[in-house]
Amino acid sequence: MDLDLLTRVVNTPGISGCEEAVQEVVGAEMRSVCDEVRRDRLGNVIGLRKAGWAPGTGRTPRVALAAHVDEIGAIVKHIDGDGYLRFQRVGGLYSQTLQSQMVIVHGREPLKGVIAPDFNLREGDKIPSPDDLLIDLGLPRETVEELVQLGDPITFAQELVQLNDKVVMGRNFDDRIGVYCLLEAMKRVGDAQVDAYFVSTVQEEVGVRGMPVAAYAIEPDLGLAIDGSLVRAAHVKPHSVTCDMGKGAGIYLMDNLTIGDRRLVSFLCDLCEREGIPFQRNIGGGTDASALQRTRLGCRTTTIGAPVRYMHSTVQLCHLDDIEATIRLLAAFVEHAHELAEDVA
Ligand SMILES: [Zn+2]
Repeated sequence: MDLDLLTRVVNTPGISGCEEAVQEVVGAEMRSVCDEVRRDRLGNVIGLRKAGWAPGTGRTPRVALAAHVDEIGAIVKHIDGDGYLRFQRVGGLYSQTLQSQMVIVHGREPLKGVIAPDFNLREGDKIPSPDDLLIDLGLPRETVEELVQLGDPITFAQELVQLNDKVVMGRNFDDRIGVYCLLEAMKRVGDAQVDAYFVSTVQEEVGVRGMPVAAYAIEPDLGLAIDGSLVRAAHVKPHSVTCDMGKGAGIYLMDNLTIGDRRLVSFLCDLCEREGIPFQRNIGGGTDASALQRTRLGCRTTTIGAPVRYMHSTVQLCHLDDIEATIRLLAAFVEHAHELAEDVA
């Protein structure tokens, strides 16, 4: 585990459409090991590690691994007469988790604030709509108007915390844990017989908008999205999910946008068994795999990733052993992908 890199990947702000700062962190890591790194017009960052050796005379198969770098947050929508801010959500924030959260408004300078608790609410009242919530920066209106303009991004202030020696917490583990696993796997891959593309995608949380462009450019034969797996947790009905925290990398069978390629799913499960990597079968939400699967001529694809508790809240939990299992699976996949790619190249 490179806790320093994990911390930088998690703590650097980047809501959908404003991913530049965190893509700088990602790009620097990619440049240290990739043969080529490029950034496309939407902001996706794509690193290529060329095959060390490729058999035969046919073209070298291409494998894409992709994790989305954007996090959910908000933008400033209105500054009211007292200097409080109203905001527009970016991505699927739960309205019941918003009040009393600390936030950072990225104005002319980063400004700390809080989403003001509404003490008029009584037990049993309806949860207020995010449109009715206000951000209090603790500053007079004139200062707010000088420093903030409409459209400034807002992120949650929660930074990475280690709860104990195995479990970490962060505001955006969906999908910064995936990005971290992508970068670690990229460094660990040994000899591979495929061209491996490592993709840090933008704008997944607002409807898989970055991935299609990257997939079109790469035209992969095989693709894996890396994203959080749904997991048993407090307030989650045990029968509604299939994974447990601490029991290994999740391999998606299907999600709301994609049915995992069955041959690829069995290949991944066999690979885990062969390599002694703990894994669990997962049924998930919806991921970048949908665009990998259906761009151009399409490719065999599914999603894998460490289980993450309380996704789309500011207190997401993840187990370090699951992160390690995910990294090992990704690296082993790239090393063995040619075994599966031969029939599509
Ligand atoms: Zn995600």
